Amino acid sequence: MFQAKSDCRCSDDTSVAVLETADKALTPTSLPAAKLHFHEKVTANNTEHRGVHPIVALNSHNEHLAPLIAKALLSLPPASPGLPTLPVRSGSTWLQKQRPDFTSITRGPGLLPSLSTGLQTAKGLAVAWQIPLIGVNHMQAHALTPRLVTALESVSQGSERQHEPAFPFLSLLVSGGHTLLVYSKGLTHHSILASTTDIAAGDVIDKMARSILPPEIIDKSDESMYGRLLERFAFPNHQGYDEYNAPSTRTEELSSKPSGWGWALSVPLTNRATGMEFSFSGLGSVVERICKRKETAMSLNERVDLARDVMRIVFEHLASRVILALKAMDENYTAANNERKIATLVVSGGVASNQFLRKVLRSFLEVRGYAHIRLIFPPLSLCTDNAAMIAWTGTEMYEAGYESDLSCKAIRKWSIDPNAEDGGILGADSWKRRH
Ligand code: AMP
Ligand code: ZN
Repeated sequence: MFQAKSDCRCSDDTSVAVLETADKALTPTSLPAAKLHFHEKVTANNTEHRGVHPIVALNSHNEHLAPLIAKALLSLPPASPGLPTLPVRSGSTWLQKQRPDFTSITRGPGLLPSLSTGLQTAKGLAVAWQIPLIGVNHMQAHALTPRLVTALESVSQGSERQHEPAFPFLSLLVSGGHTLLVYSKGLTHHSILASTTDIAAGDVIDKMARSILPPEIIDKSDESMYGRLLERFAFPNHQGYDEYNAPSTRTEELSSKPSGWGWALSVPLTNRATGMEFSFSGLGSVVERICKRKETAMSLNERVDLARDVMRIVFEHLASRVILALKAMDENYTAANNERKIATLVVSGGVASNQFLRKVLRSFLEVRGYAHIRLIFPPLSLCTDNAAMIAWTGTEMYEAGYESDLSCKAIRKWSIDPNAEDGGILGADSWKRRH
């Protein structure tokens, strides 16, 4: 049995989880392989800054992290004979709890001040409790999230418990800071097939939402995830995209679709039709120009149409790279190299909660001959930045024999691709092997 506590803090979220994983050999496969005893998150209030502000984020971590940990300790399972005990104070009484087996913490990539706050706190716990520390790569955690979801859901897999989905699988990570198509071959082997040449999908959606949404909606909301507001505005109650059908050919996909309002948005990177990059900043600028030109003259209906169309363009752009990747893999596949074919596409990151994106991806897979690919969307609480995925990744790394040295430092840029210049996850210093 392992327990992991962690927090994840690449952006403005401070989150703590207590995760218990079952002993593979002892626990019946009908029981969950993992259980979350505690999972809470505090998001810094960045509304004033219209985006993540590093000082606001840091202050929020400083304010909320220790109280969240104190609260989390109360959720540790009760002490059990033969296992190390941790006394935890609750008011005037002391509770005897099981001591966590190790602590996992986001080590990078991200903002150094925020990362360091968490890392130093985790080091303190590791030293005080004399337990290992595991410094986790935030993007690896996003990639492994579907395996956490399966573990939490308890799936019986015969006598040997396996983490599912099995490698290899494809992940589309679409968040406020990242847009990546990743081929996950193993725990520490993730190849980036496509990434953005400029800004992230979530970022452009947030920026466009600020131009498209009527000002009163923005003013009334205390939401800093403008993407969520934009989805609600364009498709109230998730109505309005049932009729969507993916373009059946690449040529149809690239053709411009006039709106009837005097503007027509074009697909990014049409000149590099087979390339594997993403690009969103051009679309953002065009939308800003359209909104500036029309300003108050833009009717509510036009705003709704524009909101729908920008999402269509962004999501079709994402889907097009998935299809290109699947095609390339099919073409290069030879049974001789002993690798399993891709059967699963995982879509995670904040943008993955968008129901229209889900529809677009499903439709692309169906229309382009990949209906057999299983789509996995982790639940929203695990889609956005969260501590549970860091705890899980720490667990998988721990099971594989990895620990971090107590001297480890936060890393601002840290790839997950072993072929990258920095050597990817294991390229970072301070890893120690237990076995
Ligand atoms: P993350 O960086 O993973 O925490 O995700 C945050 C990003 O996801 C922000 O850019 C949000 O605007 C975006 N986001 C969250 N919900 C939605 C949604 N329903 N539709 C589009 N974007 C969203
Ligand atoms: Zn993230």
